[in-house]
Amino acid sequence: MNGITDMGLCSLIDALDGKKLSATEATRACLDRIKATEDLNNFITVCEDEALKAAAAADARRKSGERGGLLGVPIAVKDNISTRGVKTTCASAFLSDYVPPFDATVVDKLKAAGAVIVGKTNMDEFAMGSTNENSHFSAAHNAADATRVTGGSSGGSANAVAARQVFAALGSDTGGSIRQPASYCGTVGLKPTYSAVSRYGLIAFASSLDQIGPFARTSEDALRVLGTIAGKDSRDSTSTDKLDLPDKLSGKVKGRTFGIADELLSGAASDVKTAFERTVALLEDNGAKIKKVKLGSVDAALAVYYVISSAEAASNLARFDGVKYGRRASGYRDIAELYTLSRTEFFGDEVKRRIMIGNYVLSSGYYDAYYLKASKIRTVIKREFDAALGCCDAILSPTVPTVAPKIGAQVDPAATYLSDVYTVPVNIAGLPAVSVPVGRSADGMPIGVQAIGKAFCDGDLLDTARAIETVTEGCGNA
Ligand code: GLN
Repeated sequence: MNGITDMGLCSLIDALDGKKLSATEATRACLDRIKATEDLNNFITVCEDEALKAAAAADARRKSGERGGLLGVPIAVKDNISTRGVKTTCASAFLSDYVPPFDATVVDKLKAAGAVIVGKTNMDEFAMGSTNENSHFSAAHNAADATRVTGGSSGGSANAVAARQVFAALGSDTGGSIRQPASYCGTVGLKPTYSAVSRYGLIAFASSLDQIGPFARTSEDALRVLGTIAGKDSRDSTSTDKLDLPDKLSGKVKGRTFGIADELLSGAASDVKTAFERTVALLEDNGAKIKKVKLGSVDAALAVYYVISSAEAASNLARFDGVKYGRRASGYRDIAELYTLSRTEFFGDEVKRRIMIGNYVLSSGYYDAYYLKASKIRTVIKREFDAALGCCDAILSPTVPTVAPKIGAQVDPAATYLSDVYTVPVNIAGLPAVSVPVGRSADGMPIGVQAIGKAFCDGDLLDTARAIETVTEGCGNA
């Protein structure tokens, strides 16, 4: 490993501000590392020329006295977030040559803060999946063990941070796609409160659940990125300005109360359970109070999620028809056949499965039984979380029931859906949650703990993450 890419994001900014390093050198180091570790397959597009130009511009801005923000920090962006002039494929054959004419708001904000976007990361097609194996560009390989998956859908982003290819990355989380790969790869991954970050320019999967958030090596680094991308945006009417973020995290443990719910622990593998229980015990030893909380309806969350997210996906993906966006099949005789052939040829199996489920649950005669019922249970789940969070600062759980499985090991889609069992309820409730690495399994794979916070208290949640990092520092295998 080279010394520059081993630095954390905040240390990099200090080094850049102290003129110990230039943005061009930092960017070069990342590009070299991406090249040297390209077998991980974390990137769909590496934008070397644009990145070196942006780095030179950041160096010039710093020379003229500018400081702060993410000036000169190399960052990666998930490939479902629109980047002007740079391919944005959603890891789909449909969009394999799509170049957006505009930047997503988060990309605008990163650029304004001086960040250097080095590339677009691998993912499950249209963010549907939990292993990155649903990518048209083939799966990414976990940096901790190349025979294992990175998780998904933001697998490339999580793994790029873990592999020291970039200092931070953006992902999107609809049912766990930031936290789950963060846990599998051993990075911090934050899903902000729904509406804290603009979704303008994020290619939609399920609009009432999707949220963009950061991956970084530490909670402090994640805070920097969140501070840059959060806020109200006139181009996303659901976005808000309600986050009140601190400049620094305290990592205070004493005086904090954490909730534990049996419902978010059942089914965890023994090494995951051991690492989780050790984390809880360490927090308690350091002065935190631990309380049992009840989330009686979360066992329905996966079913609710697959009804609602698939219904929204079926509507959102109706726009991909071979006419307006992306590729067009040949050999059609009329417009109906143009749609059918294009959608048949260019969507992958998992995307087709979700569209079929979505159209089914929305169809007349089934709407009340599925979609309406799921929406009602969603309200119940949300209320249960609000009640539980009324008596603690955050709820703790493992992020995922297991460590990263082997590539090719999961063949049954329903079994794969189970890996989201602890993360999905959070999106249904619209709350912020973070995954923090807390140790490794006996075979050396990263394990994460999830902390779920109160709506719009993302800063406080990152403080909990900092507390977890502090108490688990140096923890070895479970
Ligand atoms: N794995 C879940 C799914 O396949 C979550 C995906 C996501 O959060 N984008 O739907």
